[in-house]
Amino acid sequence: MKYIQKSKGPDCLSDIAADMPWREFGAPCREELKESLYSEQNGTCAYCERQLRGGENKSEVIEHMIPQGTLSGELRDAIERNGISADCVERRRYWYENIVLSCFGYPPPADNHEKPDQDNVSCDEHKRGEIDIDFFLFPTRCENIADCFYWESETGAVSARVENGEKASYTIDLLNLDYVHLREARRNSLEALVRIFSAPDGEEILERRMNDIRNGECEFSSFLNFVL
Ligand SMILES: [Zn+2]
Repeated sequence: MKYIQKSKGPDCLSDIAADMPWREFGAPCREELKESLYSEQNGTCAYCERQLRGGENKSEVIEHMIPQGTLSGELRDAIERNGISADCVERRRYWYENIVLSCFGYPPPADNHEKPDQDNVSCDEHKRGEIDIDFFLFPTRCENIADCFYWESETGAVSARVENGEKASYTIDLLNLDYVHLREARRNSLEALVRIFSAPDGEEILERRMNDIRNGECEFSSFLNFVL
């Protein structure tokens, strides 16, 4: 996960009545919202950093980190305890700070491909509206989030760094960030860079790619930044 610097978000969002059901929230504001999120996340999933497709072949989900449904007393207490704005409660589902784009949670289904089981999905699909606010590492609130994870170059595995152990472990488990497909996808992204380097003019191309990686402007940049 990488830090997401939230922008102000689309103006239209603040005009939406707080009690409007989410299913009634449609174009054009819904599209403006997606565009804004897509751009501030550099087109990647807020959790696993997979590339989102955007456009017509959408592979993203509008995700409320703190669930948009009725908030239990326990959640309200945790929101207050963690210094999260009261807008989170009052504006509920239309509070921009709480909204990110997540991937589907598994590779785009091929024809006749059944949806995988819970062990083989990640991100929003694995989280399913659950959250422990005291432990969750919010990519939009935790500026040093990249320092909370340890990545292995050979396996693509992710684990918690000791000093931030509990929160990072909780977040990895909640989002299933260490499951087999994501490990493989991260490894593949590293191997692709090695292939670029070996190609003619590879060094020059790689230098440009390294800039993207350093700026978090590509898929799996936290992993690649750590291992390179
Ligand atoms: Zn994801």
